[in-house]
Amino acid sequence: MKLNELKLTNPYLALPQECHDPVSPSPLNEPFLIHANEPMAKELGLDTDALYTDDFVAFVNGEYRPEGSEPFAMCYAGHQFGHFVPRLGDGRAVNIGTLTGWHLQLKGAGVTKYSRSGDGRAVLRSSIREYLMSESMHGLGIPTTRALAIIGSNHSVYRQEWEKGAIVLRLSPSWVRFGTFEYFAHKKRHKELEALAEYAIAESYPHLNGEKEKYLMFFAEVVSRTARLIAQWQAVGFNHGVMNTDNMSIHGLTIDYGPYAFLDVYDRNNICNHTDAYGRYSFGNQPNVAEWNLRALMQALSPLLPLEKMEAVVAGYGREYADEYVSLMCQKLGLERVEEGDIDLVRHLLGALQGLNVDYTLFFRTLSRYDGNRKPILALGLYHTPMNDWLDSYDECLKRNEGTQQERHDAMLQTNPKYVLKNYMLQEAIDAAEEGSYKLVDDLFRIAHDPFAEHPEFAHWAGETPEVYRNQKLSCSS
Ligand code: AMP
Ligand code: MG
Repeated sequence: MKLNELKLTNPYLALPQECHDPVSPSPLNEPFLIHANEPMAKELGLDTDALYTDDFVAFVNGEYRPEGSEPFAMCYAGHQFGHFVPRLGDGRAVNIGTLTGWHLQLKGAGVTKYSRSGDGRAVLRSSIREYLMSESMHGLGIPTTRALAIIGSNHSVYRQEWEKGAIVLRLSPSWVRFGTFEYFAHKKRHKELEALAEYAIAESYPHLNGEKEKYLMFFAEVVSRTARLIAQWQAVGFNHGVMNTDNMSIHGLTIDYGPYAFLDVYDRNNICNHTDAYGRYSFGNQPNVAEWNLRALMQALSPLLPLEKMEAVVAGYGREYADEYVSLMCQKLGLERVEEGDIDLVRHLLGALQGLNVDYTLFFRTLSRYDGNRKPILALGLYHTPMNDWLDSYDECLKRNEGTQQERHDAMLQTNPKYVLKNYMLQEAIDAAEEGSYKLVDDLFRIAHDPFAEHPEFAHWAGETPEVYRNQKLSCSS
């Protein structure tokens, strides 16, 4: 399909008028393509040649409007750091339409009714972070929104200093957030709340249509997908950093990439968000906060459903999360089955890693070639005793595997990535981009897309994070 053959639909606009607001994207000055996601274009059925045309840049810049596009912003509310904010909404994201189930959004395309005092823009650094990270999560097999392209510009945007504006064309099978429900519940707009529930079920859980207890099953599925998503974050070492309810997806996706981080050295108390003074969104607290957020959603759904029934469902969140997490960790450890007591093996390992100053990703990648020789693993940490103790238990557990050592290695190398996009790597790409060189964006895109492959030319990114850059905090400003 060529760009001029694109036909977009706007299913969200079928919802009551209070749910959305028409908006015209405000283009950036002197836009240019920084990177386009060819695999994503193929998924959409778009010719990859079309990505490298002026028309495509105009499309991402909101200047070229495909047939059927009726741009709008969505409203939502949210609990930010535990405090309810009744009106948020797409302050700098313009929805331009839907193509084969993907809802397209221009992030950074100017002010909307929900911008409040914001400028509706996104700066280059935060756009590069979102663009690359959503692809990295996808490459790791973690549910996420995606991105088709990023454009830069000569448009000045003021944050703490003057920076350049950029736009990411991002896509998702759903942009409905926990906070979208909170918005209507707070306003006591129960008709809209019900219409939204019907919409979200049709969009994300169509198999529930026709079920007698449809709304309860919908809530149960959101609980379940959230539990499984957070288990994936914890297993891979991803710290989202801003788990406000407006950044929680009803579809169970990782959404809204801000001051996130992959752990460098393992630290369950890691805080990646500079404004998170008390560690509400610390790495180790993510599973708890997700439950808190599900309870906020439960309150928002209460006009549609008895609270006691939802309470019974959300009570199962902890079990579901823990089962999924232990199962993922057993996969990371190369154990063929999960057995009673494996949770202790995992706890023992995390206890050993905490304080050893061991790079989380490198540890599992090294363990993926463990053949009884402990040296490569012991060399990763400062002290040997805690790791030796754990390896004694691990050796015992490995005895129950039926496959060969080679089979275990092969499976682990497909489970434990060689590459994750750590913040220092992204920063290198951003520094170069701010000087006008985008090669590192392309390089990081390539490892993000296929993080389990060896990519020998990028091996320098598979080691420990240089000490000065480890576990740093980032500001929310973007
Ligand atoms: P975030 O922290 O990016 O999830 O954003 C929280 C809220 O602030 C959302 O409603 C955003 O749309 C809004 N927002 C963030 N940055 C801007 C901006 N530059 N201009 C207008 N609204 C913004
Ligand atoms: Mg957000």
